[in-house]
Amino acid sequence: MVKPKTEEEIELLRENAIIVSKTLAEVGRRVAPGVTTLELNRVADEFIRDNGAIPSFLGYDGFPAALCMSVNDVVVHGFPSDYVLKEGDIVSVDCGTLYKGYNGDSAYTFPVGEVDAETRKLLDVTKASLYKGIEAAVAGNRTGDIGYAVQTYVESFGFSVVRELEGHGLGREMHEEPGVPNYGRRGKGTHLVEGMVICIEPMINAGGRGVYLARNGWAVHTSDHRKSAHYELTVVVRKGRAEQLSTYDFIEKDGKINF
Ligand code: MG
Ligand code: MG
Repeated sequence: MVKPKTEEEIELLRENAIIVSKTLAEVGRRVAPGVTTLELNRVADEFIRDNGAIPSFLGYDGFPAALCMSVNDVVVHGFPSDYVLKEGDIVSVDCGTLYKGYNGDSAYTFPVGEVDAETRKLLDVTKASLYKGIEAAVAGNRTGDIGYAVQTYVESFGFSVVRELEGHGLGREMHEEPGVPNYGRRGKGTHLVEGMVICIEPMINAGGRGVYLARNGWAVHTSDHRKSAHYELTVVVRKGRAEQLSTYDFIEKDGKINF
């Protein structure tokens, strides 16, 4: 049985979620051809600390940076590096904070300059699948309803769901119960109860769903080396409609990047 959060805990998680949301925007407005992912990491690290929080990924199981920066065929957990972003790339930025004893965790995949039509579609469909998942994150449903919503949506476009990684509960720990897979069957999985705080984070491949772990033990790549996108938001399970804690409002206007 997963314990729901109190409203006091939810307020602390909301504060984290806002810092993370703003950090993603600070990074996103600097994403451009010619910029290295290490420079973007520095921006995030500084911004998080300026807001009184700690970058929670840094040192997590030995992770070396504030952000996961996953370019093109890297699904998640890429290290920031001296790789110079180039026109047509995509970069998934995953950010975590620790503030007042609670965690924030959200992600956004940014296009670098102009991307080709299929890549644009991958980004749009992956983000839309996240909102499909959020729609299913209501009290009385189960985690399988979220996974089903994400999976059926992305597969209808011919894209595929990475199954080795999943969303999760969020609280004092960055990864709490329940696991929230991005595939599944309606009416299966953990019961969703009002007040549960979860991160929903579809990781969607343009090609096949196969992935492998890089030799550094962290970066997850697509087996076919086609692109992969990742969007993550934190929500509170409520009756009727989930409440979003993190948001893309600092990045987007009317669903489009607005810097
Ligand atoms: Mg994350
Ligand atoms: Mg997460």
